[in-house]
Amino acid sequence: MYLFFIFIVGLCFGSFLNCFIYRLHEQKTILGRSFCPRCKKQIAWYDNIPLLSFILLKGKCRHCKKKISWQYPAVELVTAVLFVLIYINYQLPITNDQLVSSFQFPVSNIILFARDLIFISVLIIVFIYDLRWQLILDKITLPAMVIALGFNLFLGAGWQNLLLAAIMGGGFFLAQYLISRGRWVGGGDIRLGALMGLMLGWPQILTALFLAYVSGAIIGVGLLVARKKQWSSQVPFGTFLSAATVVVLLWGSKILEWYLGIIF
Ligand SMILES: [Zn+2]
Repeated sequence: MYLFFIFIVGLCFGSFLNCFIYRLHEQKTILGRSFCPRCKKQIAWYDNIPLLSFILLKGKCRHCKKKISWQYPAVELVTAVLFVLIYINYQLPITNDQLVSSFQFPVSNIILFARDLIFISVLIIVFIYDLRWQLILDKITLPAMVIALGFNLFLGAGWQNLLLAAIMGGGFFLAQYLISRGRWVGGGDIRLGALMGLMLGWPQILTALFLAYVSGAIIGVGLLVARKKQWSSQVPFGTFLSAATVVVLLWGSKILEWYLGIIF
Protein backbone atom coordinates (compact mmCIF):
# COMPACT_ATOMS: atom_id res chain seq x y z
CA MET A 1 0.00 0.00 0.00
CA TYR A 2 2.80 2.39 0.87
CA LEU A 3 4.67 1.43 -2.26
CA PHE A 4 1.55 2.07 -4.34
CA PHE A 5 1.23 5.49 -2.76
CA ILE A 6 4.88 6.28 -3.50
CA PHE A 7 4.31 5.07 -7.07
CA ILE A 8 1.37 7.48 -7.54
CA VAL A 9 3.38 10.35 -6.05
CA GLY A 10 6.18 9.43 -8.48
CA LEU A 11 3.76 9.53 -11.43
CA CYS A 12 2.57 13.01 -10.47
CA PHE A 13 6.13 14.15 -9.96
CA GLY A 14 7.10 12.77 -13.36
CA SER A 15 4.22 14.73 -14.85
CA PHE A 16 5.59 17.86 -13.18
CA LEU A 17 9.09 17.12 -14.56
CA ASN A 18 7.68 16.84 -18.10
CA CYS A 19 6.01 20.17 -17.70
CA PHE A 20 9.15 21.68 -16.19
CA ILE A 21 11.35 20.43 -19.08
CA TYR A 22 8.91 21.74 -21.69
CA ARG A 23 8.68 25.16 -20.11
CA LEU A 24 12.43 25.28 -19.54
CA HIS A 25 12.92 24.84 -23.26
CA GLU A 26 10.21 27.29 -24.24
CA GLN A 27 11.49 29.76 -21.62
CA LYS A 28 8.06 30.02 -20.05
CA THR A 29 7.19 30.42 -16.41
CA ILE A 30 6.57 27.29 -14.41
CA LEU A 31 3.08 28.38 -13.36
CA GLY A 32 -0.09 28.24 -15.45
CA ARG A 33 -2.30 25.53 -16.91
CA SER A 34 -1.02 22.91 -19.33
CA PHE A 35 -2.03 23.20 -22.98
CA CYS A 36 -1.52 21.26 -26.19
CA PRO A 37 1.63 22.49 -27.97
CA ARG A 38 -0.14 22.38 -31.36
CA CYS A 39 -3.74 23.57 -30.99
CA LYS A 40 -2.96 25.56 -27.79
CA LYS A 41 -6.19 24.31 -26.19
CA GLN A 42 -6.02 24.00 -22.43
CA ILE A 43 -5.84 20.44 -21.21
CA ALA A 44 -8.72 19.57 -18.90
CA TRP A 45 -7.82 17.99 -15.55
CA TYR A 46 -9.33 14.65 -16.61
CA ASP A 47 -7.05 14.59 -19.66
CA ASN A 48 -4.03 15.45 -17.57
CA ILE A 49 -3.90 12.43 -15.26
CA PRO A 50 -0.40 10.97 -15.43
CA LEU A 51 -0.07 7.81 -17.52
CA LEU A 52 -3.82 7.03 -17.41
CA SER A 53 -4.86 9.88 -19.70
CA PHE A 54 -2.22 8.94 -22.24
CA ILE A 55 -3.61 5.40 -22.39
CA LEU A 56 -7.26 6.53 -22.52
CA LEU A 57 -6.60 9.11 -25.24
CA LYS A 58 -4.46 6.55 -27.11
CA GLY A 59 -1.59 9.02 -27.15
CA LYS A 60 -3.44 11.77 -29.04
CA CYS A 61 -4.70 15.25 -28.20
CA ARG A 62 -8.48 15.18 -27.61
CA HIS A 63 -9.04 18.20 -29.84
CA CYS A 64 -6.55 18.20 -32.71
CA LYS A 65 -5.58 14.49 -32.55
CA LYS A 66 -1.90 15.33 -32.68
CA LYS A 67 0.23 12.54 -31.29
CA ILE A 68 1.52 13.14 -27.78
CA SER A 69 5.23 12.40 -27.43
CA TRP A 70 6.21 9.05 -25.90
CA GLN A 71 8.39 11.13 -23.62
CA TYR A 72 5.45 12.08 -21.38
CA PRO A 73 4.25 8.65 -20.22
CA ALA A 74 7.84 7.33 -20.24
CA VAL A 75 9.13 10.02 -17.88
CA GLU A 76 6.10 9.56 -15.61
CA LEU A 77 6.54 5.82 -15.43
CA VAL A 78 10.32 5.93 -14.96
CA THR A 79 10.04 8.58 -12.24
CA ALA A 80 7.43 6.50 -10.42
CA VAL A 81 9.50 3.30 -10.62
CA LEU A 82 12.62 5.13 -9.44
CA PHE A 83 10.74 6.65 -6.49
CA VAL A 84 9.67 3.15 -5.44
CA LEU A 85 13.17 1.72 -5.91
CA ILE A 86 14.75 4.47 -3.81
CA TYR A 87 12.12 3.96 -1.12
CA ILE A 88 12.89 0.24 -0.96
CA ASN A 89 16.63 0.92 -1.13
CA TYR A 90 16.56 2.79 2.18
CA GLN A 91 14.37 0.15 3.81
CA LEU A 92 11.62 2.60 4.68
CA PRO A 93 8.37 1.13 6.08
CA ILE A 94 6.17 -0.75 3.61
CA THR A 95 3.55 -2.10 6.02
CA ASN A 96 1.57 -0.59 8.91
CA ASP A 97 3.40 -2.77 11.44
CA GLN A 98 6.69 -1.45 10.21
CA LEU A 99 5.45 2.11 10.38
CA VAL A 100 4.35 1.65 14.01
CA SER A 101 7.80 0.41 14.93
CA SER A 102 9.38 2.98 12.67
CA PHE A 103 11.61 4.25 15.44
CA GLN A 104 14.06 1.67 14.16
CA PHE A 105 14.42 3.59 10.95
CA PRO A 106 17.32 5.96 11.17
CA VAL A 107 16.37 9.55 10.36
CA SER A 108 19.33 9.65 8.00
CA ASN A 109 17.55 7.14 5.73
CA ILE A 110 14.63 9.51 5.34
CA ILE A 111 17.05 12.34 4.49
CA LEU A 112 18.83 10.03 2.05
CA PHE A 113 15.46 9.20 0.49
CA ALA A 114 14.66 12.89 0.05
CA ARG A 115 18.16 13.56 -1.27
CA ASP A 116 17.92 10.86 -3.91
CA LEU A 117 14.47 12.05 -5.01
CA ILE A 118 15.96 15.48 -5.69
CA PHE A 119 19.09 14.09 -7.35
CA ILE A 120 17.07 11.80 -9.59
CA SER A 121 14.71 14.59 -10.60
CA VAL A 122 17.70 16.70 -11.66
CA LEU A 123 19.19 13.77 -13.57
CA ILE A 124 15.91 13.06 -15.39
CA ILE A 125 15.79 16.69 -16.53
CA VAL A 126 19.41 16.49 -17.79
CA PHE A 127 18.70 13.13 -19.47
CA ILE A 128 15.67 14.31 -21.45
CA TYR A 129 17.01 17.76 -22.24
CA ASP A 130 20.28 16.44 -23.63
CA LEU A 131 18.51 13.66 -25.53
CA ARG A 132 16.11 16.07 -27.24
CA TRP A 133 18.14 19.22 -27.64
CA GLN A 134 21.79 18.13 -27.11
CA LEU A 135 22.30 20.66 -24.36
CA ILE A 136 23.24 20.45 -20.71
CA LEU A 137 21.94 23.58 -19.06
CA ASP A 138 24.08 25.42 -16.51
CA LYS A 139 20.97 26.77 -14.87
CA ILE A 140 20.22 23.17 -13.89
CA THR A 141 23.70 21.80 -13.14
CA LEU A 142 25.09 24.77 -11.21
CA PRO A 143 22.28 25.05 -8.61
CA ALA A 144 22.25 21.24 -8.41
CA MET A 145 25.95 21.29 -7.50
CA VAL A 146 25.22 23.53 -4.52
CA ILE A 147 22.31 21.28 -3.44
CA ALA A 148 24.38 18.09 -3.84
CA LEU A 149 27.27 19.56 -1.86
CA GLY A 150 24.94 20.77 0.90
CA PHE A 151 23.10 17.44 1.25
CA ASN A 152 26.23 15.32 1.26
CA LEU A 153 28.11 17.51 3.73
CA PHE A 154 25.04 17.48 5.97
CA LEU A 155 24.95 13.68 5.75
CA GLY A 156 28.55 13.52 6.93
CA ALA A 157 30.55 13.11 3.73
CA GLY A 158 34.07 14.53 3.96
CA TRP A 159 34.59 17.71 1.94
CA GLN A 160 37.95 16.35 0.73
CA ASN A 161 36.19 13.29 -0.67
CA LEU A 162 33.57 15.38 -2.48
CA LEU A 163 36.17 17.81 -3.77
CA LEU A 164 38.30 14.96 -5.09
CA ALA A 165 35.28 13.36 -6.80
CA ALA A 166 34.19 16.69 -8.33
CA ILE A 167 37.70 17.36 -9.66
CA MET A 168 37.85 13.80 -10.95
CA GLY A 169 34.48 14.05 -12.75
CA GLY A 170 35.02 17.58 -14.07
CA GLY A 171 38.71 17.05 -14.85
CA PHE A 172 37.97 13.93 -16.85
CA PHE A 173 35.91 15.97 -19.30
CA LEU A 174 38.12 19.05 -19.08
CA ALA A 175 41.04 16.92 -20.29
CA GLN A 176 38.99 15.68 -23.26
CA TYR A 177 37.81 19.19 -23.94
CA LEU A 178 41.38 20.49 -24.06
CA ILE A 179 42.75 17.59 -26.12
CA SER A 180 39.96 17.80 -28.71
CA ARG A 181 39.69 21.62 -28.55
CA GLY A 182 36.02 21.30 -27.65
CA ARG A 183 35.07 18.87 -30.40
CA TRP A 184 34.38 15.74 -28.33
CA VAL A 185 32.71 17.21 -25.30
CA GLY A 186 31.26 20.59 -24.43
CA GLY A 187 31.55 22.82 -21.38
CA GLY A 188 28.23 21.42 -20.15
CA ASP A 189 29.81 17.97 -19.85
CA ILE A 190 32.55 19.37 -17.60
CA ARG A 191 29.99 20.89 -15.23
CA LEU A 192 27.90 17.70 -15.31
CA GLY A 193 31.02 15.65 -14.48
CA ALA A 194 31.69 17.85 -11.45
CA LEU A 195 28.03 17.56 -10.41
CA MET A 196 28.24 13.77 -10.61
CA GLY A 197 31.29 13.89 -8.34
CA LEU A 198 29.44 15.99 -5.78
CA MET A 199 26.43 13.67 -5.88
CA LEU A 200 28.29 10.36 -5.73
CA GLY A 201 31.60 11.10 -4.01
CA TRP A 202 34.75 9.06 -4.34
CA PRO A 203 35.09 6.24 -5.53
CA GLN A 204 31.54 5.96 -6.95
CA ILE A 205 32.24 8.73 -9.46
CA LEU A 206 34.54 6.23 -11.18
CA THR A 207 31.81 3.59 -11.29
CA ALA A 208 29.44 6.08 -12.93
CA LEU A 209 31.98 7.25 -15.55
CA PHE A 210 32.83 3.64 -16.33
CA LEU A 211 29.15 2.66 -16.69
CA ALA A 212 28.42 5.69 -18.88
CA TYR A 213 31.24 4.80 -21.25
CA VAL A 214 30.37 1.12 -21.45
CA SER A 215 26.65 1.78 -22.06
CA GLY A 216 27.47 4.61 -24.48
CA ALA A 217 29.75 2.34 -26.48
CA ILE A 218 27.25 -0.55 -26.57
CA ILE A 219 24.34 1.66 -27.64
CA GLY A 220 26.53 3.60 -30.07
CA VAL A 221 27.65 0.43 -31.82
CA GLY A 222 24.06 -0.88 -31.73
CA LEU A 223 22.78 2.25 -33.49
CA LEU A 224 25.60 2.05 -36.01
CA VAL A 225 24.74 -1.54 -36.81
CA ALA A 226 21.08 -0.57 -37.15
CA ARG A 227 22.27 2.29 -39.40
CA LYS A 228 20.44 4.86 -37.35
CA LYS A 229 23.46 7.03 -36.77
CA GLN A 230 26.72 7.80 -38.46
CA TRP A 231 30.08 8.12 -36.73
CA SER A 232 29.93 11.87 -37.14
CA SER A 233 26.54 12.40 -35.54
CA GLN A 234 26.72 13.92 -32.12
CA VAL A 235 26.17 11.66 -29.16
CA PRO A 236 24.11 13.20 -26.35
CA PHE A 237 26.60 12.18 -23.73
CA GLY A 238 24.77 13.89 -20.88
CA THR A 239 22.05 11.29 -21.41
CA PHE A 240 24.42 8.41 -20.70
CA LEU A 241 26.09 10.25 -17.82
CA SER A 242 22.81 11.01 -16.06
CA ALA A 243 21.48 7.48 -16.58
CA ALA A 244 24.73 6.02 -15.18
CA THR A 245 24.51 8.36 -12.17
CA VAL A 246 20.98 7.14 -11.41
CA VAL A 247 22.13 3.51 -11.57
CA VAL A 248 25.09 4.20 -9.27
CA LEU A 249 22.90 6.11 -6.80
CA LEU A 250 20.69 3.03 -6.56
CA TRP A 251 23.13 0.15 -6.85
CA GLY A 252 26.60 1.71 -6.75
CA SER A 253 27.94 -0.17 -3.75
CA LYS A 254 26.70 -3.51 -5.11
CA ILE A 255 28.27 -2.86 -8.51
CA LEU A 256 31.58 -1.89 -6.91
CA GLU A 257 31.58 -4.98 -4.67
CA TRP A 258 30.82 -7.21 -7.64
CA TYR A 259 33.53 -5.58 -9.73
CA LEU A 260 36.18 -5.77 -7.03
CA GLY A 261 35.15 -9.39 -6.42
CA ILE A 262 36.00 -10.20 -10.03
CA ILE A 263 39.40 -8.52 -9.93
CA PHE A 264 40.60 -9.90 -6.61
ZN1 LIG B 1 -4.11 19.63 -29.61
